[in-house]
Amino acid sequence: MNIKYPEFSWSLSRHKTLSECARRYYFSYYASPIGRRRNASNLQKHAWRLKNLQSLAMVFGSSVHEQIHRIVNSLDELKELPLQLEIMANIRSDLNKSYCDLKYRQNLWLEMPSDYSILSEIYFDGELSLEAISDYQQRLPDTVHNLISCNTVNDLFQRRKDTELIASERFRFIEVRGVKVWIVIDLLYRDLGNGKYVITDFKTGKRSENDRTQLALYAKFVKESFQIGTEDQIELRNEYLNDGSFVSFAPTRYDFENIDYLIHTSIDWMQSYLQDIQNNVPLEMEAFEQTKYEPTCRSCQFRELCGKA
Ligand code: SF4
Repeated sequence: MNIKYPEFSWSLSRHKTLSECARRYYFSYYASPIGRRRNASNLQKHAWRLKNLQSLAMVFGSSVHEQIHRIVNSLDELKELPLQLEIMANIRSDLNKSYCDLKYRQNLWLEMPSDYSILSEIYFDGELSLEAISDYQQRLPDTVHNLISCNTVNDLFQRRKDTELIASERFRFIEVRGVKVWIVIDLLYRDLGNGKYVITDFKTGKRSENDRTQLALYAKFVKESFQIGTEDQIELRNEYLNDGSFVSFAPTRYDFENIDYLIHTSIDWMQSYLQDIQNNVPLEMEAFEQTKYEPTCRSCQFRELCGKA
């Protein structure tokens, strides 16, 4: 039977997945997209369900991001920024929904995993640990406080007339060698005072060595889409909401060279796992090596499929 795979595309998270484990890359980008089809194999269906598991950190991060976009998209109507307690209540409600989805809707999740946010911690361990619950209870007030007092939100709120919102968490793509390169920018606006394009990425987790690469990718998108000539017309920002720290810089020529090199070499690497590049048909699963680095397996949502649960 000929299987039709989704169009080949590139993203930074796809690259990170392949860098960590080729077998996880296969499950994520070749087995699970097929798993929703009626004639999918058991392995493909299983991979699809596991791909849709969400960790507590993911649910927390996406709920915080939802609050950011709610605020940013309603700035024109707001007289005051929302209160810390109101935002905290919204995030708590999202976390509770995830908890209830697994407790009471597990059968529905088995049929339609993408419609329910099931927590991987409960799926694998049966319960959320008290440490995990208390960790997020402690982090929530600080994260929300840092959100409503961060430079970017205050910049947009206090200088509404001097800023122009361009995009808030939308999927966009550019093409490199005919391959779609997907980008989701947290926030892009123009400072009408100095004419700069400001790109902000909000982080709810720890700093990572990939943060600069991610911003450089966004800068490449903005530079090409808005035909910007000089790098100093772009400002890149990371707002770290867990500790309230803030990083801001202009991309350099070196950043653009690095991101171009990464995209090109990574596309070549991904395509070396294909038997038919045009139709994105992968090699057999066994050609996608399993990592030997055990800590990666311990937090991998596909560990059941590798017998490592
Ligand atoms: S369990 Fe380990 S080997 Fe298997 S897909 Fe996950 S990271 Fe790779």
